[in-house]
Amino acid sequence: MIDEIPSDKGLTSEGNSPIQEQLEENKILIEELKIERDFSNTIIQTTPAFFVAIKPDGKVIMMNETMLNALGYKEEEVIGKDYLTNFIPIKDRAKLGHTFKNLSQHHQHTFVGCNLLAKNGNILMVEWHGSPILNGDELDYFICLGIDITKRMSSEEFLRESEKKYRELFEKSDDAILIIENDKFVDCNDATLRMLKYKNKEDLLYTHPSELSPEFQPNGKSSFEKATEMMDIAIQKGNHRFEWYHKKADGKVFPVEVLLTTVSIDENKKILHTVWRDITEKVKARNEIIEAREKAEEANKLKSNFLANMSHELRTPMVGIIGFSNILEEEIEQPDLKEYASFINEAGNKLMNSLNLILNLTKIETEKISVEYSKIDLIHNIKRTIYTFDKIAAQKNIYLKFKSEIESLENETDERMFTQIIANLVNNAVKYTDEGGIIVSCSKDDSYLVIEVKDTGIGIPKNMHNLIWEEFRQVSEGTARIYEGTGLGLTVTRNFVHKLGGKIKLESEDGKGSTFIVRLPIRQKSILYTVKNETQKSSDNTPKIKGAEKGLKTVLYVEDDIYALEVIPLLLKGHYNVESATSGEQGIIKTGDRVYDAVLMDINLHGQMDGTKTCEIIKEMDDYKNIPIIAVTAYAMVGDREKYLQIGFTDYISKPFSKDDLINLLDRNVK
Ligand code: ADP
Repeated sequence: MIDEIPSDKGLTSEGNSPIQEQLEENKILIEELKIERDFSNTIIQTTPAFFVAIKPDGKVIMMNETMLNALGYKEEEVIGKDYLTNFIPIKDRAKLGHTFKNLSQHHQHTFVGCNLLAKNGNILMVEWHGSPILNGDELDYFICLGIDITKRMSSEEFLRESEKKYRELFEKSDDAILIIENDKFVDCNDATLRMLKYKNKEDLLYTHPSELSPEFQPNGKSSFEKATEMMDIAIQKGNHRFEWYHKKADGKVFPVEVLLTTVSIDENKKILHTVWRDITEKVKARNEIIEAREKAEEANKLKSNFLANMSHELRTPMVGIIGFSNILEEEIEQPDLKEYASFINEAGNKLMNSLNLILNLTKIETEKISVEYSKIDLIHNIKRTIYTFDKIAAQKNIYLKFKSEIESLENETDERMFTQIIANLVNNAVKYTDEGGIIVSCSKDDSYLVIEVKDTGIGIPKNMHNLIWEEFRQVSEGTARIYEGTGLGLTVTRNFVHKLGGKIKLESEDGKGSTFIVRLPIRQKSILYTVKNETQKSSDNTPKIKGAEKGLKTVLYVEDDIYALEVIPLLLKGHYNVESATSGEQGIIKTGDRVYDAVLMDINLHGQMDGTKTCEIIKEMDDYKNIPIIAVTAYAMVGDREKYLQIGFTDYISKPFSKDDLINLLDRNVK
């Protein structure tokens, strides 16, 4: 307040009255005060701290720009507003109310952490310094100076939280986790103690990893050497996973899967982190699998050998059964006896068929089967195969026809696989057809030979189309099974078709007959003759017996099985003369005496010299350089043909064989 201006009583040396001088002084004072206030105001407004002045009744009388900006308000929006309800989050209001009360009662300065509520709802964390401003003894207002610590708090809190989280992970993990610093363990979790059966962490700390292992690892290296090598790899690669053997506190050694990870490396400190997992059960299971696999492989080998032997044992007598019944059927006049002989022959052939299927499947399973190419006339082969079913078809009173737009097709194929494919399909067609009949047809489509086996039989329901290719599966299974069979025919057929690079397809409906379509690639250099007339009766396709008009040639048959020795000359009667030798030694003497047109050599001769050795010696003789020596064996395993040809045999035939097979073989080889 400026005092009342006094009346002008006298003048100063400058000629001013004392009142005027007083006025001038006051003016200067006011100017100085103004400058001082502006200065303070500028400081308050521009300081990075928050500044707020509040009346004792809680109303805001001033808020600096820093705080206004942080809260997102304009000055006019805050002046006169209640501080607690407008700018403090609900949960902090009681605390701040209490602080204000203290300030007004005790007139002391206070530090407090209190959150602020921004206009957009965000919460700011602020550390406050509050002071009461007094007018005499009376509280005039509070001033509060605050520092925004939101950023600092959130990063500190984040760090604290994250450390807590990772510590929990470390502690609660089921895997043993250890920290290695400069090759020594410096920390580990509880799971490590449980795994190694240690009571105190301290017993483990500051040990080298190799000290928790047996002295030597299973590969013979010392654990210290090996552990150092593993850590070096982890340092180079960043991490390294490997199997290891550790030792428990009680001395028990057990297998562990270790993951070693490099955390940080500098000149003075290398820190690694390692996770261990007890793999005792896993290793046990793995060993059991290995053992089981070895056992299975061994059993499989035994099975293959057993099958090879069984094949030999069954095939040898089958030569007698099938051969003699064949001859009896032809020779016997009395109708009922003739029929019995044909039954024996049929049963023998069926048995051979089943035996062949089982053997083939075993070969497929063991992946031992490989394609052995030789050049044959495919059409002739199909006709000959169909012919073998002629009699059964006639007995069932159904037709079995063959039609082809190709008269002959010489092509490279695996003869046994090809014959088996046709035989299986025709066999099924005949088996599952009781009325009507079967037509087998051949055609050429680009570079494929297409063979269709179409029957008017019982058909196959659509839902069974996928299943019948699986081994042992049949449309009618279990005790309700109406048709006999092994359920292996189609499995083997499809496999053989694939092996020959072809495809097989089924078209069929329940009760409406079935058509199996096989497409086989025609290999290059095949010779093909086409014909116009297509439909012929199958019986017309009986292979022409060659050589019947020729002068008979003589074959030496070296064999020690008495049935085979008897039956072969009978089968070749009218085609070839047969002389026999009952051992390898006798065979050599006989071939030394005269030059035969061919030699049929049984492999499994029981004398001192087997068929292979005998063949080698005969081949040495000058007269026999160009004479065919044909291997005859009951060991009809895959790969045999190639093996015998390599040894020096001219050709190969497996027991038992039909009369036609044998004659064709000799016709093919004898010049
Ligand atoms: P199977 O020895 O039983 O004949 P396959 O593997 O040759 O074994 O055939 C599997 C099943 O497919 C047969 O049991 C039969 O149910 C069905 N099947 C195969 N060919 C024919 C066909 N031509 N007509 C009807 N069903 C067939």
